[in-house]
Amino acid sequence: MQTVPNHQVDNLQIEDDRTGLSVECLKRAFLDNLFYVQGKFPKIATKNDYYMALAYTVRDRLLQRWINTAVIYTERASRTVSYLSAEFLMGPHLGNNLVNLGIYDQVKQAVSELGLDLEDLLEQEEEPGLGNGGLGRLAACYLDSMATLEIPSLGYGIRYEFGIFDQDIRDGWQVEITDKWLHCGNPWEIARPEWEVYVRLGGHTEAYTDEHGRYRVRWIPFQVIKGVPHDTPILGYKTNTANTLRLWTAEAPESFDFAAFNSGDYLGAVQEKMVSENLSKVLYPNDDSSQGKRLRLAQQIFFVSCSLQDMIRIVFRQNVPLEKFHEKFVVQLNDTHPAIAVAELMRLLIDEHDMGWDQAWQITQKSLAYTNHTLLPEALERWPISLFRELLPRHLEIIYEINYHFLEEVKAKFPGDSDRLRRMSLIDESGEKYVRMAHLACVGSHSINGVAALHTKLLQQDVLRDFYQMYPEKFNNKTNGVTPRRFIVLSNPRLTNLISSKIGDNWIKHLEDLKHLEAFVDDPEFCSQWRSIKSAIKQDLVAYIAQQNGITVNPDSIFDIQAKRFHEYKRQHLNALHIITLYNRIKANPDIDITPRTFIFGGKAAPGYYMAKLIIKLLNSIGDVVNNDPDVRDRLKVVFLKDYSVKFAQRVYPAADLSEQISMAGKEASGTGNMKFALNGALTIGTLDGANVEIREEVGEDNFFIFGLTAPEVYALKARGYRPLDYYHSNRELKAVIDRIASGHFSHGDTKLFKPLLDSLLYRDEYLLFADYQAYIDCQDRVSQVYRDRDRWTRMSILNAARMGKFSSDRSIRDYCQDIWNIKPVPIELGECIQAKE
Ligand code: PLP
Repeated sequence: MQTVPNHQVDNLQIEDDRTGLSVECLKRAFLDNLFYVQGKFPKIATKNDYYMALAYTVRDRLLQRWINTAVIYTERASRTVSYLSAEFLMGPHLGNNLVNLGIYDQVKQAVSELGLDLEDLLEQEEEPGLGNGGLGRLAACYLDSMATLEIPSLGYGIRYEFGIFDQDIRDGWQVEITDKWLHCGNPWEIARPEWEVYVRLGGHTEAYTDEHGRYRVRWIPFQVIKGVPHDTPILGYKTNTANTLRLWTAEAPESFDFAAFNSGDYLGAVQEKMVSENLSKVLYPNDDSSQGKRLRLAQQIFFVSCSLQDMIRIVFRQNVPLEKFHEKFVVQLNDTHPAIAVAELMRLLIDEHDMGWDQAWQITQKSLAYTNHTLLPEALERWPISLFRELLPRHLEIIYEINYHFLEEVKAKFPGDSDRLRRMSLIDESGEKYVRMAHLACVGSHSINGVAALHTKLLQQDVLRDFYQMYPEKFNNKTNGVTPRRFIVLSNPRLTNLISSKIGDNWIKHLEDLKHLEAFVDDPEFCSQWRSIKSAIKQDLVAYIAQQNGITVNPDSIFDIQAKRFHEYKRQHLNALHIITLYNRIKANPDIDITPRTFIFGGKAAPGYYMAKLIIKLLNSIGDVVNNDPDVRDRLKVVFLKDYSVKFAQRVYPAADLSEQISMAGKEASGTGNMKFALNGALTIGTLDGANVEIREEVGEDNFFIFGLTAPEVYALKARGYRPLDYYHSNRELKAVIDRIASGHFSHGDTKLFKPLLDSLLYRDEYLLFADYQAYIDCQDRVSQVYRDRDRWTRMSILNAARMGKFSSDRSIRDYCQDIWNIKPVPIELGECIQAKE
């Protein structure tokens, strides 16, 4: 593993127990923290005490970098990215900080000399699951890359007390359990109550004339909520930059309503506190769907208002005139969840800071940039006007005014096109009236980007076509990326060491350097090392599966993994159809020569998403039958690993032979799991959807298993009139699969259990499983053939990893910096630091 470069050690000003990096110093500091922070001595300390002591030891080593970074940014009033996101799926901090500080090996040795195992302590960390899936994890990868590239940035979001639920599987069904990430304390954050801000909700507005005779509006809220920031340092990889993730907690302005308290109404007095705290209580566990709930809109305005007020405070503190807000900050909106920023920044500038409309509008547009994350209609957020008026009466007025000016612009550009006005309006008036948040984000931002080339194209042609015609210059593509620090260096040290032994370790910061591995693809010794590492990691997963699920798995079988949120468009049930196809072949001919496979699934379903939960039940039910059928003779195994999380993801990506990326083309915006699998040497079976298209371009079509309809073919088929029953009747194997499920074979004879799922396939099949079935099966048969040729498979695996350079989040962030943010690195020299003990 890495060591700290000497110049960094030399530059450290204070070599004491809080900053020293030698093994001896780390040991001393660890015991000191155990004693003084945890209040324990080794004999009675729990594993959690040890984890906390180590976390504080590491945090101490971040602090000097963190404070230095803040000092330098403040002195120079550096241009800064504000990354606004309702979700940050950070994953455990400890391991990542050890990697980025370059002290993994020293710390491992230090704790081992104290009789402890570092892996054990890393396991102890409850990860902050403050996100649902790809979108939240992308935000986390981007924070890592911005710090690594020395880009001044602040991540802003909500400090949910309860993050994504923990998933248990009982009788094959998903059961949701409350997440308790904070119950043992969070050593990584520092509360900053001195920077609290207030957010208003509800009430009404009043017009008045100010002392200069100008028309003004005053908002008299029904409720005021206090936002308290909690800061977490985000250290770059082997840099001195430590940026900040600032998450807001909601509190009542006064913990008690003293008037009520004094009149003896104790419960009433506490009521307001409870209502206020609800705002940051829980993450909405829906991925890619919006429910239009009041609390959700309240959460959005809460964190957006807190964050914009915080930025304005920083602008004033750094003596930047407010008219230059957009020069100090660029605000990236991670999907429409923070899109209310358009109206809130206008309100703050006009109502609170006396600015005129035109100037405020210019600043708003120049500051904001919008990333779209979805092509699913059900995920496009819109809020009933009635709810908006009740919660945000002033914002609704501002949105009406923005809409008025905007529609005038549309009229001027497309005269006489009233249909276009209706389609583009910020207000949907087709039935009950709604505010369309994606439209608000498009109008109020200077940049609109998709997250993969195909996604951006589909936005331009379809979902946001009118906006593309109106503002073509705003549109751009920023293909997603993933951080190699967490998703290979930390999670796959064996492969990291092999790669670095051949090409040095420059690739960790410059992922395109992985291409130098191609020189070794014909080197038998290297190939054999590559293969034995994959094999050893698979063995580890075998042990984990045995312990978690009590299932014995053949480590030489193809590890065929689909790990991601459960959603019909992602088509985990297409994978199920393949498993049953193989099962049927074995039942028809028990001696058939089949390449052994282990099908591994992981992922959560939104608690209210019945069909996704039924698919989880189906997979578990198939597993129960297939894993125990003597005819199968262990050639097939189906494993559902519960409670998919970042920690879990780090364990499964490295163990995969085959990565399942089989969404219906035209639905997955990008995907990032696809990149993480390939980076760890898995081959992909996938449709031409999201970033799969670009992954295939990079790795070469010979090294990628492609199948299925393309996005234009999907549209064409649907336009012609799709009839899934025709496929069922004309495809013998498909019919046998469906009939097998319908017969109750996987449900103890119960023919009703999976009927809703079968009916949805036979009579609607919105995501075209039947249309893609044969192509998928044929492609899987090819996979099985190729896997038998060990050398060919290994070569393909190496080439996949070697050609993943494009998919580093460092590349994505460089693109954002250049094309949207206009921002340059600000290197942090520790020599310039303020000293801790001055
Ligand atoms: N959930 C977690 C915990 C992840 O780490 C990832 C990875 O990117 C995702 C969800 C998204 O997966 P996918 O891009 O395959 O949908």
